[in-house]
Amino acid sequence: MAQTPQKPDKALVLFSGGQDSTVCLAWALARYEKVETIGFDYGQSHKVELECRERVRERLCELFPDWAARLGPDHMLDLTTLGAISDTALTREAEIEMGEDGLPTTFVPGRNLLFLTYAAALGYRRGAFTLVGGMCETDYSGYPDCRDETMRSLQQSLSLGMAKPYTIETPLMWIDKAATWALAEELGGKALVELIIEDTHTCYRGDRRQRHDWGYGCGTCPACELRASGYEKWRAAQAAGR
Ligand code: ZN
Repeated sequence: MAQTPQKPDKALVLFSGGQDSTVCLAWALARYEKVETIGFDYGQSHKVELECRERVRERLCELFPDWAARLGPDHMLDLTTLGAISDTALTREAEIEMGEDGLPTTFVPGRNLLFLTYAAALGYRRGAFTLVGGMCETDYSGYPDCRDETMRSLQQSLSLGMAKPYTIETPLMWIDKAATWALAEELGGKALVELIIEDTHTCYRGDRRQRHDWGYGCGTCPACELRASGYEKWRAAQAAGR
């Protein structure tokens, strides 16, 4: 994006322990001298995702010594207030379905806006003005806070409001889930793909009882469906020799 970060050598990655943010973390580790991670507990029902975070960080360090040297501290923030004020299928016992406003009931209003604002506040102290997130508007669930336009607007607001040249990097914005698997392979080969299958978590229901080709999950929630169809499309493209 237009602005040059003040310290382009340091990035702060929004890291949930899911597939997308793990690919973003690998993407950042391949690019920046120092990378730190930030995660949020907002009372999500798929808390198992948070339990994957430490494991994923450890495995990345074991498998990729170059990245281990660059990976700095993890920061976990308590945002349970967000869960308390929002009424969604991710923070309450509710059906995952399409709501009357045309958005899935998994939409948590303000989530990415708050996450990035907290990340910017932490980045201010840590000297990290590049914020990396897995937002994507290619084959997403229609969340308005995942759109590129929202990110560009927020980047400007954060830069103005904190008087620092923040950059929000979203490496997955214009690629589909199949291409996210391909990007993982490009960044870390088969080892990274295996790590994503075994150790990351995406399922909205927090279900890790069933192991599929593409990893663990209930297999039927929108997050599982996206992950599974992306995996199948990627594998089919590989089989076709593309
Ligand atoms: Zn699921």
